[in-house]
Amino acid sequence: MSYVEFRDVRKSYKMGENTIVAADNISFSIDKSEFCVIVGPSGAGKTTVLNMLGGMDSCDSGIIRLDTREISSLSEKQLTEYRRHDVGFVFQFYNLIPNLTALENVELASEICVDPYDPRETLISVGLAERMGNFPAQLSGGEQQRVSIARALAKNPKILLCDEPTGALDYATGKHILTLLQDSCRRTGKTVIVITHNLAIAGMADRVIHVKNGQVVKMEQNSDPLPVE
Ligand code: ADP
Ligand code: ADP
Repeated sequence: MSYVEFRDVRKSYKMGENTIVAADNISFSIDKSEFCVIVGPSGAGKTTVLNMLGGMDSCDSGIIRLDTREISSLSEKQLTEYRRHDVGFVFQFYNLIPNLTALENVELASEICVDPYDPRETLISVGLAERMGNFPAQLSGGEQQRVSIARALAKNPKILLCDEPTGALDYATGKHILTLLQDSCRRTGKTVIVITHNLAIAGMADRVIHVKNGQVVKMEQNSDPLPVE
């Protein structure tokens, strides 16, 4: 059985008179420990897919499953627990708490988890041994994104969901961040999903899901994914 499954998932938004179909019978599956990229132009439905898998948005119909749990049939209370314990989120603009240090940001997220990794060890693993006591404003964009990856990893989640993680970074820093995500995936055996509009990122993925107009238009598997170049 695959680790992540979307089966005929549909999601629409009402906008006055109009209905926007953001996910139009989306089906795909992802194996455990895969580094998966969902790629497509702006408005394709990528964030909608990620938000539904992360339990932040519901679907109109279809089935969404992670491991043995059917996410699409959880109650609000179960979804809150699921987001807290099982999913690590990485956002384009980091979403760190400005008045907490790097270490405190990671500690806060892992405190409420059942089996977290050590926050210090996790920050060391993303190359921030010397920066734990810094506040977000004292860190570069790339460093803030490292903190946010450490925060997501330290929860020891089932899956890491990354929404345009390099979107606010320059090319070289973005490359470092993607390498870090790829390494973290290999090292911890976590399943990682990155959404991006940047096709160049697809080459480093084990699996690439192309989305357009709310539909999956192509799926590829790389048996020998490239290191980030
Ligand atoms: P992507 O992440 O690929 O840019 P999104 O999933 O954000 O695409 O959006 C898919 C479509 O759904 C777009 O047409 C977008 O405008 C629409 N959409 C997304 N969220 C909402 C919302 N909360 N209300 C109305 N329309 C939305
Ligand atoms: P980048 O080129 O990645 O944007 P910056 O030029 O912003 O990086 O920062 C370079 C280095 O200086 C980084 O290691 C960052 O942590 C450090 N730094 C930047 N601003 C501050 C600050 N206000 N206090 C302490 N260190 C800082």
